[in-house]
Amino acid sequence: MDALRLMTRRNVVRGIAATAASTTFLRASNAQSAARIVVIGGGFAGASCARALRQIDPKLQVTLIEPNRTFVACPFSNEVIAGLREIEAQQFTYERIIADGVTVIAEAAVKIDPQRRVVALSDGKSLSYDRLVLAPGIDVRFDALSGYDEAAAARMPHAWKAGEQTLLLRKQLEAMDDGGLVALAVPAAPLRCPPAPYERASLIAHYLKTRKPRSKVIILDAKDAFPQQRLFENAWKELYPGMIERVSLSQGGRVTSVDPATNTIVTDFGNYTAQVANVIPPQKAGRIAEIAGAADNTGWCPIDPVTFVSKLVPDIHVIGDACIGGGIPKSASAANAQAKACAAAIANLVSGGQPEMPRLVGACYNTVAPGYAFSLSGVYQPRDGMFAEIEGGGTSPVDAPRELRMREADDAQSWYKTITVEAFG
Ligand SMILES: Cc1cc2nc3c(=O)[nH]c(=O)nc-3n(C[C@H](O)[C@H](O)[C@H](O)COP(=O)(O)OP(=O)(O)OC[C@H]3O[C@@H](n4cnc5c(N)ncnc54)[C@H](O)[C@@H]3O)c2cc1C
Repeated sequence: MDALRLMTRRNVVRGIAATAASTTFLRASNAQSAARIVVIGGGFAGASCARALRQIDPKLQVTLIEPNRTFVACPFSNEVIAGLREIEAQQFTYERIIADGVTVIAEAAVKIDPQRRVVALSDGKSLSYDRLVLAPGIDVRFDALSGYDEAAAARMPHAWKAGEQTLLLRKQLEAMDDGGLVALAVPAAPLRCPPAPYERASLIAHYLKTRKPRSKVIILDAKDAFPQQRLFENAWKELYPGMIERVSLSQGGRVTSVDPATNTIVTDFGNYTAQVANVIPPQKAGRIAEIAGAADNTGWCPIDPVTFVSKLVPDIHVIGDACIGGGIPKSASAANAQAKACAAAIANLVSGGQPEMPRLVGACYNTVAPGYAFSLSGVYQPRDGMFAEIEGGGTSPVDAPRELRMREADDAQSWYKTITVEAFG
């Protein structure tokens, strides 16, 4: 049974590539020339979309706007925090995307005029488009948690965008005395990568167990339930007995304010002063989405799930974490699948065709220790104006031998390789 389930999940994971390939090459024959497509944001969604557009129709003029010359990936960044991996393994350049014929501009988009279809850049220049893809990922909401602003993030890192924040959290763990308390503040949904806080708690516990065994991890959570909860909790009992405590929403775990001066986190139930405080605050779509008028009062962007066209602004598509994906979780896997489906829809729209109903496949791996991982996969289709999960996904079994967890840890590495090659070459 375990093997069967694993096979099913593996087929689903392979299906990501298969779906991409067929979508990509089906469109090549009827594509139209020279439409100008501008993509804002060179992360998993934007980079994958820019490449897919060129693969579908090499005549499309595709421009990618991204201020950073090196992208730093979040998947596997929890391993960097735990000292199991170096940050260089998370870094990707845009060389391959340029070689694919995409014009990459290393600036930020600062303004969008949807009526004139013009994007203003940070260097004062501007760019016209026929269709715009917004893929700016998330921004941390510095207005949502009392005491948590940009200065506080330098003391209590969120590490929810990979790079300096990731390294800061790692350094704080390295500097901590044995016997210290590490606190993780976890926000309510929606958030980028819902299972990642629990993966992070697990890998921090692994670091502490091997280097500072008298230390503890506490998770202060604004939710009662979380993805793959039984798998995580069983792993914590097995690998880190007595090291990880979680205070759920109904136990008073919701964080209401923080005090960076004393490294104190205040919850509905009490105050926690930690040696290391990893505060993951509420999030919203990247700021440019709001500037474009594509974000609603939730801070996220409503879209038509067939074309990814914004429900608020014309000729703008929104993909990745920034969009309201319904049942599809905010993940690199989802961003990549949305990117390819959106590219196919755009190629159809600019050539006067009818977009097809997308079928998105996503998989997510959670690593709780070296050689110990489990996974969750899902298949999603538009239903009632949103993405809804349909049959075909699955989760790793709760009771499984360690060999399966070990195999899934290998699968996680392969997944990372596939998804980063699809986005960055
Ligand atoms: C700790 C952690 C672990 C994770 N693990 C996994 C995992 O195992 N599997 C998984 O599937 N997902 C995982 N994720 C989630 C994954 O990282 C995100 O879902 C994914 O990066 C979303 O892709 P995106 O393109 O929407 O955003 P991003 O990848 O963040 O890319 C957004 C890009 O837009 C750019 N940008 C923003 N504003 C502008 C602007 N104004 N002009 C130009 N460019 C702009 C940014 O610089 C950035 O490069 C994890 C996340 C975290 C935090």
